[in-house]
Amino acid sequence: QQQQQGQQQSRQQRRPANPHAMNVVMVGAECAPWSKTGGLGDVMQALPKALAARGHRVMVVAPRYKDYTDVEDSGLNLQLRVFNEQQEVKFYILQRDGVDYVFINHPAYRQWADEIYGGTRHEVLFRCALLTKAALEAPCVVPCGGGGQPYGDSNLVFIANDWHTALLPVYLQAHYRDWGRMQFARSVLVLHNMAHQGRGPVEDLGLLEVPEDYAPLFWNKDERQQQHMNVMKAGAITSHRIVAVSNKYAEECQTPLGGWGLDAVLRSQAWKLRGVVNGIDCMEWSPVTDTFLKSDGYTNYSVQTLREGKARCKAALQRELGLPVDPKAPLLGFIGRLDFQKGVDLIAENYEWLMQEGAQLVLLGSGREDLEAALREMEARNPRQCKAWVGFSIKMAHRITAGVDLLLMPSRFEPCGLNQLYAMAYGTPPVVHAVGGLHDTVEPFDPFENTGRGWAFYDADPAGFRRAMSNAITTWRDYPDSFRGVQLRGMEQDLSWDNAAAQYEAVLLGAKYQW
Ligand code: ADP
Repeated sequence: QQQQQGQQQSRQQRRPANPHAMNVVMVGAECAPWSKTGGLGDVMQALPKALAARGHRVMVVAPRYKDYTDVEDSGLNLQLRVFNEQQEVKFYILQRDGVDYVFINHPAYRQWADEIYGGTRHEVLFRCALLTKAALEAPCVVPCGGGGQPYGDSNLVFIANDWHTALLPVYLQAHYRDWGRMQFARSVLVLHNMAHQGRGPVEDLGLLEVPEDYAPLFWNKDERQQQHMNVMKAGAITSHRIVAVSNKYAEECQTPLGGWGLDAVLRSQAWKLRGVVNGIDCMEWSPVTDTFLKSDGYTNYSVQTLREGKARCKAALQRELGLPVDPKAPLLGFIGRLDFQKGVDLIAENYEWLMQEGAQLVLLGSGREDLEAALREMEARNPRQCKAWVGFSIKMAHRITAGVDLLLMPSRFEPCGLNQLYAMAYGTPPVVHAVGGLHDTVEPFDPFENTGRGWAFYDADPAGFRRAMSNAITTWRDYPDSFRGVQLRGMEQDLSWDNAAAQYEAVLLGAKYQW
């Protein structure tokens, strides 16, 4: 892997100047390592770096929830009109890894620093509107380009992410392009999760300052045929391109089940919609260099040292969590937000069976209170075989990914999913419900052909999941060579962002030239 990374670096160094270099402004409500609740934070961290490595000038705009070290006050203040009132924002800046980071400072972000999507519907909407308005100004005013100059408004593409920033394409069109400003700027909306769309009563539109003729773009009917306003809908219609975070998810968004009321809208916009599977940040997620594996009995490992390395990590994880240190017990892990989406209840339904199988189960997650309670209850029923870590711990996420034999991802829907990608990179085959990105990225093991990188099931029911887990555990226990093949094929694939960034570049170019 080290060699692979080395080759990748030298490939990047040899790359000639990109003749299609653009000014890209990527906007999101969260951006790791500064703020993260899920995969969006990871994408905001990795894609900008990968686009910058391809020769684009890239700016990331995100809220300044806290005081971040090394991030400096640009000295620039701006008055913006948000929710029909004047608001003052400050821009904080940092240049790192070839990316210009711009953090928006406003008391509303500080107030929700520990719960970034918290507050009333209006409070959340306010923060979203503020972020998008500030982001639209950022390239023209923030002095962070070469020589302290702003990027300017030419050759500009904005990438908005999820409903939180889906107002950006609307404002770009209604407040700038319709008035002859930023004529050559384009916008791309990335759909990370259609389950959240920024819905509210139609009256909320009065707060968003959109021209009257834009109002119908926000109107949508909900499941009970009630009219509501929908930020994601307006963003999808006004953006120049739409990306879904996997090919399968691009299809699923256009169906009643996956579109959550916007399937017809996305079908009408299908001409500009395509799927691009996320990559992984190999600097953060590599068993060769992972800093969380450097202490407490864990160890870094590679394809060459997989067997010993993983055995040590497994023992260290068992020890750290207070499970019996037993190499013969299949150790299964789950990491994720505790939400209907992630299907933890399918694990709970199979709990007894897993215990009888002699499996050990490690669950890391936080979210819905009833599901947190379910996790604690599973541990309480059999603490010698099950450990629940209720909370958010990046360190534990890394250690579980390295230490377990199999990672469980029974998500009901999963736009892309990152944990299965991390798991494969760490030689930990995933057992997945074949939807969205899980369908696209985890080719099921075929014992006859000796192909595949994990196990899959096709209906989100406990029995299907059990069959897949049973096959995986049997292979792990009785067919170690086959299992090792599954592990190696997972580790040896190129999951880096380089590949995904090339596809994003094609989308951005399409927005620029074929519109
Ligand atoms: P989603 O974006 O739907 O939450 P993804 O699989 O795309 O799901 O990304 C989840 C990201 O959040 C991964 O980096 C995962 O490791 C991390 N994560 C989720 N829950 C936790 C947790 N409780 N502790 C640490 N990291 C977590």
